[in-house]
Amino acid sequence: MSLKQKTTIEQAAKLLQSASSVALFAHTNPDGDTIGSCIGLKLALEQLGKKVCICCDSEMTSRLKAFEQTEFVSQQFVGKYELYVAVDCSELSRIGELSSVFSNSRETLTIDHHGGDYFSKYNSIYNYASCCQIVFEIIKALGVEFNAELATYLYLGLCTDTGNFAHNNVDSNCFYMAGELCKFGADIEKVYRVFFRDTTFAETKLLAKALSRIRSYYDGKMFLTYITVADLSELGLDHTTTSGIVSYVIDIAGAKIGVCICEVTPNHFKVSMRGKDFSVRDVCKEFGGGGHVLASGCRIDGFLEDVIEKIVRVAGYTI
Ligand code: AMP
Ligand code: MN
Ligand code: MN
Repeated sequence: MSLKQKTTIEQAAKLLQSASSVALFAHTNPDGDTIGSCIGLKLALEQLGKKVCICCDSEMTSRLKAFEQTEFVSQQFVGKYELYVAVDCSELSRIGELSSVFSNSRETLTIDHHGGDYFSKYNSIYNYASCCQIVFEIIKALGVEFNAELATYLYLGLCTDTGNFAHNNVDSNCFYMAGELCKFGADIEKVYRVFFRDTTFAETKLLAKALSRIRSYYDGKMFLTYITVADLSELGLDHTTTSGIVSYVIDIAGAKIGVCICEVTPNHFKVSMRGKDFSVRDVCKEFGGGGHVLASGCRIDGFLEDVIEKIVRVAGYTI
């Protein structure tokens, strides 16, 4: 295998097969796909008798914590492993504070579906709707037997990255895989309930606050709302509970861009953008972020109104 060339599913399976210990790295601010992929891969590799760890620089969200295996995701990296795998990461920086551990390792593999940098020695990058679909194929190539638990974690990524099979990244392969995972006993109802329905009273009040302050720009082509540190502390919430808010913003008829800005720490904002027939990735890239064409994010520091003004101005170049 030559360097910086695409690593096929079979080659990735061989690499994993030949390593006796594997460290898996999820991306910072983890979602269902990065965690579902890591845990699915861990369960499969453990069936083969390998030593496996999963690291993520951030805490698990309350939704992810509803899935028992997330207990084994560590915020620190310790030890030495034969193979280091970045999962659902388009760039090295997505590994966050653990990026240096990864970049200082020699045997590295990326498994990703964003089509980003080839930052590892081996790069298994496919243009799928979710990273879990690549992991699913790798596990099949490893010859591991599926069970209900493994199927549930792969379904977690497939379901969340496709917006419960509703985004425009969905194709027949997604439904085919869902059908197979269903046969293996994946807990489809639990994934849907935890990620798309369950809420708390405080979260619902936060949503009400965010909805009440939506601003409209460019004749109703762009809508934006925000959550401050003060809102979160008043309701006893942390920023990880704000992830669903942006969907309400982009749902408004006529919207091409929907934005939710969340102040993570004073004057430090995590920006979530969604597009309809519009590349929000291009807007986020201007701020050093990225993601998918229709779902992207970035981080911006500054005073709230200045941050809003910058986003509105940059969006205005292309809207
Ligand atoms: P979010 O709005 O946090 O759900 O993020 C939407 C998508 O954007 C995610 O699936 C990530 O792929 C990507 N993303 C979010 N934040 C960043 C960032 N700071 N840099 C690069 N990609 C990001
Ligand atoms: Mn992800
Ligand atoms: Mn993903």
